[in-house]
Amino acid sequence: MPGFERFGAEERKELQDVLDNGVLMRYGFDGMRNGHWKAKALEAQLQTTLQTKHAQLVSSGTAAVSVALASAGVGAGDEVIMPTFTFVASFEAIMMLGAIPVLVDIDDTLGLDAKAVEAAITKKTKAVMVVQMCGSMANMTALQLVCDTHNLILVEDACQAIGGTYQGKPLGSIGDLGCFSFDFVKTVTCGEGGAVITNNEKYYLNADHYSDHGHDHIGNDRGAETHPFLGYNFRISELHAAVGLAQIKRLPEFLEIQKQNYTIIRTALSQIPEVTFRTVPDGGEESYSFLNFFLPDLETARKTIQVFKEKGVDVCWNYYDNNWHYVRKWEHLKDAKSLFPLSQEMNDALSNIKTTDFSNSDHYIGRNISCLIKLSWTEEDIKLRANKMVEAIKSSL
Ligand SMILES: *Cc1c(COP(=O)(O)O)cnc(C)c1O
Repeated sequence: MPGFERFGAEERKELQDVLDNGVLMRYGFDGMRNGHWKAKALEAQLQTTLQTKHAQLVSSGTAAVSVALASAGVGAGDEVIMPTFTFVASFEAIMMLGAIPVLVDIDDTLGLDAKAVEAAITKKTKAVMVVQMCGSMANMTALQLVCDTHNLILVEDACQAIGGTYQGKPLGSIGDLGCFSFDFVKTVTCGEGGAVITNNEKYYLNADHYSDHGHDHIGNDRGAETHPFLGYNFRISELHAAVGLAQIKRLPEFLEIQKQNYTIIRTALSQIPEVTFRTVPDGGEESYSFLNFFLPDLETARKTIQVFKEKGVDVCWNYYDNNWHYVRKWEHLKDAKSLFPLSQEMNDALSNIKTTDFSNSDHYIGRNISCLIKLSWTEEDIKLRANKMVEAIKSSL
């Protein structure tokens, strides 16, 4: 991660095809295209790579989460359970539909704690959104059991974990619907883009129509198509899809580099007895897009990050102090700072977040350090980095 570090001839060729025929839109204009359908080709490739029946490209990962929820019928007043540790996109996507985000604790996987999920279920709960943060996964067997028992939709945000697997299944393909982002900093990038995947035909057709103003996409006269229900515009362009088409074919190459780089750093850090690693559930394999480890306490983690900075070790974070990925600094959410009026129900729910006890999440996020694994490092870069990291951690303990 990120795929842009390895842009090359393949990306340029796909993009050039689109510019040569001039059709920047993914639908229609059949005669002008010279056979180039980049978005359709990328969807077909995603179905193969992610071993799933259907894939619908959209304009971003955030759009993918909203479209997935809408396609499964989640809307005004429905509660959606989500983790305290994720990207702000999770609650944005829920709230855009008028649905209510219910934040619950994570565990040592850094993903949703199934027990905390079960405790948060009410009559209004409609869906659970698991977020596979930093290249690994929550305990999916436990979460699926909770969802099956309570008849809840499981939406899987795998935006940071493309290529990871759980019991042989690609992450993103386990829930009722899976979501991916192809924004500029993800393992596979389109510049901006995202995808919803599902094995459910109905959800797929809903996603296909909803993401394009409700168009039913029947026939080849766009103006004559019907609109079975209300939609919106979350389309991807052919320019973006072209870049993604080149990138998805290179995913195995990217994963191999990530795994190699991750392993060198992990092996070095393993020599320090105070360092422990995030739990990967049985049968899970990370995508190796990040390396996550725990230090004994928050103070040591903060000190380590400071020494990392002094030594020039970049792209490592302690999310406890981060504005975008952890509930602690989401004041704009807790204070309901919206440009437009929200329902009373929403305001009450958001205000409740202020007084909810997230000490279990604090326990894990406070001690965690998360390091991005780059694709552009040379072997020398990585060895130097690993040595600096070991020195920094030892000096902070
Ligand atoms: C990047 C990301 C998103 C949002 O994707 P965009 O394409 O930037 O909108 C959502 N969830 C997670 C976990 C992400 O990392």
